[in-house]
Amino acid sequence: MSAAPARSPALPRVALAGNPNTGKTSLFNRLTGSNARVGNYPGVTVEREIGRWALDVGPVEVMDVPGAYSLASRSAEEQVAMRAIFGLDGEVRPSAVIVVIDATQLVRNLYFALQLIEAGVPIVLALNLMDIARAQGQAPDPVRVSDALGVPVVGVSANTGEGLPALAAAVSRVLATPDEGRARPMWRYPHALEKDLGRLSTLVTSTDGSADRPREARALAIWALLSVEDGDELIDVPGAVRQEVATLRAAATAQGRDLDAEIIGARYQWLDGLGLARSPDSTVSFTDKVDRWLLHPVFGLAAFLLVMGVLFQALFAWSDPFIGLIESGFSWLGESTRAVVPPGLVADFLVDGLINGFGSVLVFLPQILMLFAMLGFLEDSGYMARVAYLVDRGMKAVGLHGRAFVPMLSGYACAVPAIMATRTLERRRDRLLTMMVVPLMSCSARLPVYTLIIASLFPVNGRFLWVFPVQGAMMVFMYVFSTLMALIAAAVLGKTLLRGPKVPLLLELPPYRLPSWSSVFRQMWLRARMFVTEAGTVILGCTVVLWVLLSFPKETLKDYDALRAGASDEVVATLDAEEDGELLRNSYGGRLGQAIEPLIAPLGFDWKIGVGLVGAFAAREVFVSTMGVVYGIGSDTDEQSLPLRDRIRAERHPDGSAIYTPLTGLSLMVFFALSAQCMSTLAVVKRESRSWRWPMFLFAYMTVLAWVASFVVYQGGRALGLG
Ligand code: GDP
Ligand code: MG
Repeated sequence: MSAAPARSPALPRVALAGNPNTGKTSLFNRLTGSNARVGNYPGVTVEREIGRWALDVGPVEVMDVPGAYSLASRSAEEQVAMRAIFGLDGEVRPSAVIVVIDATQLVRNLYFALQLIEAGVPIVLALNLMDIARAQGQAPDPVRVSDALGVPVVGVSANTGEGLPALAAAVSRVLATPDEGRARPMWRYPHALEKDLGRLSTLVTSTDGSADRPREARALAIWALLSVEDGDELIDVPGAVRQEVATLRAAATAQGRDLDAEIIGARYQWLDGLGLARSPDSTVSFTDKVDRWLLHPVFGLAAFLLVMGVLFQALFAWSDPFIGLIESGFSWLGESTRAVVPPGLVADFLVDGLINGFGSVLVFLPQILMLFAMLGFLEDSGYMARVAYLVDRGMKAVGLHGRAFVPMLSGYACAVPAIMATRTLERRRDRLLTMMVVPLMSCSARLPVYTLIIASLFPVNGRFLWVFPVQGAMMVFMYVFSTLMALIAAAVLGKTLLRGPKVPLLLELPPYRLPSWSSVFRQMWLRARMFVTEAGTVILGCTVVLWVLLSFPKETLKDYDALRAGASDEVVATLDAEEDGELLRNSYGGRLGQAIEPLIAPLGFDWKIGVGLVGAFAAREVFVSTMGVVYGIGSDTDEQSLPLRDRIRAERHPDGSAIYTPLTGLSLMVFFALSAQCMSTLAVVKRESRSWRWPMFLFAYMTVLAWVASFVVYQGGRALGLG
């Protein structure tokens, strides 16, 4: 940071604004010579930074504005950018704004610039990351962009320093003649909307003093229409404005209009029509040749399914040795603990509760690491953007915004960050619809459950349709199934509860390139750490609680000690097993499982699975550790050294038939695929939707869906004579 004089109010202010992660802070540091923290993930700049930049025309004050996808804001933090740019509420009004744009994501980033043009704020566009765009062979031409938008445009690189003198010259010109940085917005809104804006802008004007700047007042009116809603967390919005927005919205809804779509749709359509999305250089490159196949509606989808199939089969085959290693490690740990700690409650807790529970979760780390490495590889190579392109038509057909693809895809890893990623969508309706279906995507927490069931119940050497290894095929099936269910849910919700028109997808296809292993490994490491810390806290906590529930009270009807006295070894062993079984059945957890058994019996689940399901409602992975605890407690010592999958295979009904058949397994996996067993997801939906209604709705509809689907699978399968 520069010294005190930088804050002198006499200096004109230049603001650096734009989408997150476009290099605003890097540029700020370059221009002012300070060293504010640079990050390579969105959301690093929280507090604003101010520094001094020496232009030829004299020094100016530069301000690093927090990144935003849009001026529309839903919370006080997001409001900061809007206030800084308009100079509201005691902020210094910038004399010019440098809109920092990621040149590799040109069109998508320009949306933000359109809003400043609309507001009549004098701007200079800095197309940053030109070095990367050029290396990818798709650097945009600043002259073309400037012609299209009517404002000054400079190509720069905050890393190499390229273009900074030209940026300084452009900013100096705009400071001298602000109109050079203004353009006439060329997109049109419907007449009815203009009338609404007219009414609202007089209100905004009378409260904030922008009477002499009609374009800005209109922009503020647009901001209010898009941002103010029941339960928002905006601050200092006058009551009169709130009331008027509510009135206008109600009137529009009554007329069947969608204000969000009218505003956002008009901007995007205009932007789309500029034809800037594809790089002008039209030589047939390697990328184009490959894309002719990979973007083909038939071959492309076939290739996608093939890639996924190979991926999941590899996941099984390659992780197996590591899984075996971890399994034997934990059973050694359990045996050594039993050897050291005297038999009793403490030893039971350590071995059955802690070690078993933790081990049965950690065992999935190899698969999770491998999944993330492979997904990271595909993402970095540029292939994932092709998949987005391929599925866009399908997404739109079910009413999802094209850009909802990214959150949906992140949903395969974890619904929590995926739901947070819906912030990149402009409309509340699109955000809510995406949030309601993302939890149906098969997240990594379901992977341990699928793996356990598939590995226990489906033959290693089995073949599906004579060619495909059955375990991999089952896994692909679960992922395809969950994806289809998410799309169907979107179609249904999008036509009923969350109706709304579509907005076009703007997507730039990066050229293919070899992924950098360091970034793939970094991603892998971050996600693995998340998994392990979660396993270490939530899961461990739940496991301990469940162990207590399953171990107490220690009551049996028969007096086993008396029966054992003087009996033969064989009889003692049978009595031991019987006692363990009775203890488990009579425990609090066992009783809970039996209490819900009538509810889940039609799905093919017994009370032990019921105990697991109860635990899984906190977090899905807990199911696996609960099963570890259930079968650890309820089995005799010979079996305790067996891995969980063998114990599951050995479970029998009182009549001797196997509890777990492939059909039970399928029913169980379907249940896990569809039910909302994740507290964190519900909590984050509550936060992002700012209401209790949506998480409650999410929980209810997913639980009902899961039950019905499992019922159909199990009863249908039985009717067909399977299992
Ligand atoms: P902000 O979120 O807009 O403030 O973006 P940052 O300044 O934190 O930068 C985001 C990431 O992009 C960092 O990893 C930077 O090093 C990188 N970056 C920024 N500008 C450039 C550039 O011109 N070229 C390259 N190669 N990387 C850049
Ligand atoms: Mg920053």
